[in-house]
Formats: sequence, C-alpha cells, structure tokens
Amino acid sequence: MSHSLFPATIAGSLPKPAWLAEPEKLWAPWKHEGAALQAAKEDAALVWLKLQEDAGLDILTDGEQFRMHFVHGFMEHLTGIDWQKKTKMGIRNNRYVVDVPTVTSAIQRPRDVHVSDAAFARAHTKRELKITLPGPMTICDTVADGHYGRRADMAMAFADVLNQEARALQAAGVDVIQFDEPAFNVFMDEVNDWGVPALERAAAGLTCATAVHICYGYGIEANVKWKETLGDQWRQYETIFPALNRSRIGQVSLEAAGSKVPLSLIRLLPDKQILVGVIDVASSVVETPEQVAATLDSALAFADKERVQACTNCGLAPLPKAVAEAKLAALGAGAALARKTHSKGGA
Ligand code: ZN
Repeated sequence: MSHSLFPATIAGSLPKPAWLAEPEKLWAPWKHEGAALQAAKEDAALVWLKLQEDAGLDILTDGEQFRMHFVHGFMEHLTGIDWQKKTKMGIRNNRYVVDVPTVTSAIQRPRDVHVSDAAFARAHTKRELKITLPGPMTICDTVADGHYGRRADMAMAFADVLNQEARALQAAGVDVIQFDEPAFNVFMDEVNDWGVPALERAAAGLTCATAVHICYGYGIEANVKWKETLGDQWRQYETIFPALNRSRIGQVSLEAAGSKVPLSLIRLLPDKQILVGVIDVASSVVETPEQVAATLDSALAFADKERVQACTNCGLAPLPKAVAEAKLAALGAGAALARKTHSKGGA
C-alpha cells in the first residue's frame, strides 16, 4: 500500500487502563473474568485505537490489550506445552531467571489465537492495522524443551503454528504482521543459523506486509542493567542485519531514540522498510516533535526517505497511561513535522 512519507506506527504494546489490569506492570493480573473480561479488553482496545487516530498515527495496533504478555499470550493457546512442569531458565542469556513452562510433545495450534480480537480491531478503524506475534526464536527462549532435542527444531515447530496464525490474521484483514524477536539481539550466531530461517517459515506465503521488531527491551531494571554492559556502541544489529536483508521479511523495526545504536548500521538493510524507533520507551520524559523529527533526520543519512517509518523503540506497556498518550502525540506530530520538511519541493 502506498503511504505518505514517514508513516507513523508503534512497536506494539500500550498500557492497560486501570479498569482492565493493574497499571505500570508487565504481567499485571486482569481485574475481570469471562465475558466481563472480554468486554473490558475490547473497550480498552477501542480507547487506544481512538487515541492512536487522534495522535495522527497511520498504522495502528490493538495495543496488545487482549494479552497479558507478548509471548505467553500466544503460547497459552497451543498444545504440547505443560504449564505445570516448570523449568528454571536464565532467559535472554541469563538476563532474567524465570520458571518457564516445558514443551513435552509436538506443538500444535488447535484453534485461532488472536484472530477474533484482530477482527474486532479491524472493524473499528479504517486505518491500516498491524498485529504483533512473538517470533520463533524469542518463543524458544521463553520455554524449556523436553521434546524436540534441538532448539532449531523446536523453533521450526513454533514457526509452523505462527504461520497458521499469521495466515488467519491476514485473512481477517490485517495489513501488517510483525514478529517480535528481542532474542535476535542476544543470540546473534543462532540468528544466522536458524533464527532467520525460522522467521521466514513463520512468514511463508503471506502477501500482507511483514515486519520484524528487534529491540533492547522494555525500560525495566534488568534491561537497563544489561544495556550498561554493552559498551559505548551497541553493534548487535551489525551481525544480524545482512541475513535479514536477504530474507523475505519486508520491514525491520529498530531502536534509535536515546540508544547507543550507530544508525549507520541501517546501511546493512538497503532493501527493507526501516521502522526507526524515535520514541524512547525506557524514559518517562516525553519527546518533543522536533526531537522526533531530528531522530528521523539522522536515519535519513542512511536510508531513502521512502523507506522510513516513524516508530517507537519498543512497546509502551509499562509506562503510565498519560505518558504513553503524550508519547503517541509526539510521535504523530514529529512524523508530520518531518513530512512537511521533506516534502518541500514537491517530493
Ligand atoms: Zn521491543
């Protein structure tokens, strides 16, 4: 689909309203059950669709209001996983140690997961709609393997069920399917061995736009500490972008605002749409439109303007709702400002 310059979108998640779940928490428990919970989720999604439209965003999401967590919200609908059999695992290369469920038999997807919720969002906005799914490598880093024996084989099994879900989402009218792969910034060798092949398998046969989001995580303490160990320049993308550029995934979402990523690494993605993170999710300070436009400008040194979208660094879920709203407004206004500047001369 053709866009004006710098279409604005978000990486995915937005805060849950206080009447849906406890604010400013990842994994916040729901405040309702059953039909009341579904109705509350739908109301929350409607609020965020409206606020994204008001902010002038072009490609909207449901704000992930229907799921408690971006990985488990998908996995809990699959069979082959024993949720009682917990295994202690240091995920993201021991950044967090958590009890994870265990795969005990072949992974299957007996029914649609996010499709009816996506159809609800589709029915309530005329703008483009993006739905996010966890990528196969990131799922494999969130579950223990008691069945497949090789992580690469387990990733391919998850890729197959992700592909079933992605095709159903596309059929429901979703314009962009984005796979979230924060693990790509951690296991760079495996990304090239099997991470990108698994991602391509998850996206096989899709005719809608496809994206991969690779970030340095939410602004939670474990991530802030990890980033302090990464040195003056964060060059993780350098190892993985060449394989992504050769892949069939159309868009790559990366961090730029307030990060130490050298934006020259964008040169490694000459054939992709670039979702430039212009909103820092690890800070409650709200960007000005001028700052957003300046971050877009710094990316334009390395990519044609026709290939650049304005995005957030990651999800906004853990932030206070008012801060997230203000950041959405800054994103929309900053993209509009850049559009005005770069459209001069009739381009
Ligand atoms: Zn992210």
